[in-house]
Amino acid sequence: MKSIVYNSAQEISVEEKSMPEITAGEVLIKVAYVGVCGSDMNIYQGVHPRAKAPLIMGHEFSGTIVKGHPTLPDGTPVTVYPLLSCGHCEPCLSGYAHVCNTLRLIGIDCDGAMAEYVKVPADKVMAIPQTLSLKLGAFLEPLAVGVHAVRRSGYKPGDRVVVFGAGPIGLCVAACLKYFGASRVIVVEAHPYRLGVAQKLGFTTIDAASEDVRARIKEYTAGVNADFAFDCAAHPSVQTVLMDVLKVQGTAVIVGSYKKPPEVDLLKVEFKELTVIGIRVYERRDFEIATSILESGFIDFDLMLSESSPDKAPEVFQDLLRGGNTIKMLFKM
Ligand SMILES: [Zn+2]
Ligand SMILES: [Zn+2]
Repeated sequence: MKSIVYNSAQEISVEEKSMPEITAGEVLIKVAYVGVCGSDMNIYQGVHPRAKAPLIMGHEFSGTIVKGHPTLPDGTPVTVYPLLSCGHCEPCLSGYAHVCNTLRLIGIDCDGAMAEYVKVPADKVMAIPQTLSLKLGAFLEPLAVGVHAVRRSGYKPGDRVVVFGAGPIGLCVAACLKYFGASRVIVVEAHPYRLGVAQKLGFTTIDAASEDVRARIKEYTAGVNADFAFDCAAHPSVQTVLMDVLKVQGTAVIVGSYKKPPEVDLLKVEFKELTVIGIRVYERRDFEIATSILESGFIDFDLMLSESSPDKAPEVFQDLLRGGNTIKMLFKM
């Protein structure tokens, strides 16, 4: 089967690999679409703390069941909940398996879906409603991150919100905020293409490259600053303004992963009685809610999607690294 293989830092090849063989409790899936995630870019750059080459990446994907599922018939359109939790550590036993002490992911810690076929544990398979395209089905995972971030943040309708970053996660967070009742979502971004998509999706945008972010946010929030600031950019420039754009007792929600630990001004956290919340992946319920959001069609998520052939993978990864005009790149397998 055709596979996109990570071999070493910035070394990706398209290879013929043998089909995965399933054992009891596993399901074989024919992959339809697989997305490239920020964490895949970290793997590609050789800086991911766990991923080891050679690896078939891909943890956000859709496809159809070939064989092995105990209840879903072969041919069922599905996505996969890619978290592999140990099941016996304290977080797992307390109902927080998504922050398992030894959390692993399909496509990071073992072979994933950047191939024609993938095998996964049967209990990770989730059916996609027939009304949803397989292309959007591959977008459930990033959208679930947005759902998890907003649900965990404590956001209430009427709260003033700022989202830093108009990449897939930033736009998913912004979309979920809108879905959950925000009348205005302010999105801060420096990349012109991403800024344009944020505008098309109906968000209030601030161009971080040319505008005074602090002043604009103050203006857009009637002089009071934001109740919530979601950091989905994880860029050093955000860490310096994040605490400034929050009002007293506001909340910073950290969704993006910084490449190097950022400096946080704890004096601002103290003086303004701020709250800082961390967000890691999602729970199963978030996938279900993400499915309802996609089904509702309330926002044109297709605007965020680009697709490519797996044969072009080496060039696609190079282009993504250079910051090309893409929000979410999907390989059509
Ligand atoms: Zn992802
Ligand atoms: Zn665990």
